[in-house]
Amino acid sequence: MGALGIEELGHPWRVVFDEAWASFRSGNYGIGAALVDPGTGDVVSTGRNRVTEQQPASRTIGGNFLAHAEMNAFAAMEPFFARGLHLYTTLEPCLMCSATAIQLNVEHVHFAAHDEFFDDLDGLWQHHEYTRTRKPGRTGPLDEAIARFARLLPMTFTLAESPESNAAIAARRDTPELAAVAQRLATAPELAEVREADSVSDAYHAIASELASW
Ligand SMILES: [Zn+2]
Repeated sequence: MGALGIEELGHPWRVVFDEAWASFRSGNYGIGAALVDPGTGDVVSTGRNRVTEQQPASRTIGGNFLAHAEMNAFAAMEPFFARGLHLYTTLEPCLMCSATAIQLNVEHVHFAAHDEFFDDLDGLWQHHEYTRTRKPGRTGPLDEAIARFARLLPMTFTLAESPESNAAIAARRDTPELAAVAQRLATAPELAEVREADSVSDAYHAIASELASW
């Protein structure tokens, strides 16, 4: 089992994983994000995936596929540009969120889990001067079991909600062990303690041994 729990990851990550858990518990993809001032460590704004939420609060995006965690962190941000800020997210940003991070001048992206769908997305940015000169630095993924946990939450949503989608097919084909845990997390009685945990730390502790077993 990995040595670290979520509490030990430090302040920005704890906030980001709390957001991911709130997203998962409310029937969304289970992804959290925050914008952080690297000088002070202050969390400037937070966001979570809200794609199924129908009545988002002011300055949040919900109920559509723009409602990614990172987009919600950007939407909640003041001022409107992220120059010098670091973006933390539990899943490596997609095309939309990566492009927005570039547009808003994010300095650095920290991601907990790799997203296999966006392998080498950075390679794309090399083709245009605007994106090449502004693209943020990158750090990630985190330690193995925590990275798997961060990947597990959105995979659980994908397999439950759209089991025949390309994403679900790829998950079962490319990461069968993790997909099997994700399948069970959605409904298996023995994992109710995990999926109904009040805190993300409790959820992680309850499932971490399963995520370190292959
Ligand atoms: Zn995104």
